[in-house]
Amino acid sequence: MTKVIAYIGLGSNLSTPEVQINAARQAVKDLSGVLEHAFSSLYRSPPMGPQDQPDYVNAVMAINTDLSAIALLRCLQQIELDQGRERKDERWGPRTLDLDILLYGQQTIDQPDLCVPHYGMAKRAFVLYPLAEIAPEIEVPGLGKIAGLLASCPLDGLEKVS
Ligand code: ATP
Ligand code: MG
Ligand code: MG
Repeated sequence: MTKVIAYIGLGSNLSTPEVQINAARQAVKDLSGVLEHAFSSLYRSPPMGPQDQPDYVNAVMAINTDLSAIALLRCLQQIELDQGRERKDERWGPRTLDLDILLYGQQTIDQPDLCVPHYGMAKRAFVLYPLAEIAPEIEVPGLGKIAGLLASCPLDGLEKVS
């Protein structure tokens, strides 16, 4: 199969988030059929949704892969579980690790359990700013160039982790 560049959004706000993000980066690198292409700085931001939870640490990773998008999603979900992710009823509640597929090449995927480009990315500073750091010229299918998306996305308290 041809190799594809995919972008993964990483997020954590429990159990020492920086440690969780770095462990997830290593776990993704260890997947068979995946090579790391780029990794952004770490960013901190106030929570989206319920406010009674710790701040988040986020990053974006680019990989070169010959896994299909759905196979990649299953691998990422296993890494979430391995790092103690619990899914509760509350939407956007606290979590040790969230791994979302932001982009998979220039493909648009609309399946019951996989929507790419990720449906929320254009409104999320914690996705767009780290993505722009590692892919300043990227075009998001259906939404256009990252520069245009950044221009209409306020920082919402996002800052680089020093
Ligand atoms: P959000 O999707 O708004 O960022 P979340 O990441 O907290 O919220 P999850 O509980 O991690 O949501 O995932 C919910 C479902 O989203 C999963 O069961 C998964 O099948 C589905 N999903 C659809 N598209 C994607 C994608 N691009 N990346 C990851 N999961 C996806
Ligand atoms: Mg998410
Ligand atoms: Mg998710």
